[in-house]
Amino acid sequence: MGLPRRASIAAANRIKNQFIGQKVDLCSIVNAKSGNCSEDCIFCSQSVHYDTTATTYPLLEEDEVLERAKKMEESGAEHFGLVTSG
Ligand code: SF4
Repeated sequence: MGLPRRASIAAANRIKNQFIGQKVDLCSIVNAKSGNCSEDCIFCSQSVHYDTTATTYPLLEEDEVLERAKKMEESGAEHFGLVTSG
């Protein structure tokens, strides 16, 4: 038998405040490769098996990714991730 939901949220908040405080970490991602995925995940608009309006493009060049990462850093992001289809 666990804590009631409200108590669990309050406990989680106390733990967060203890170890992180009120600081917020900003993260950003770039879609580094979109669409044309050979996999057949039925929920995904990036699968080549389905007729969707998802934007498609191959893997971005390194310079483009770095430029976007720098822009996000200038905007305050402390973490930057790349996501790709496939
Ligand atoms: S992009 Fe990922 S989720 Fe989408 S079809 Fe490909 S493997 Fe599946």
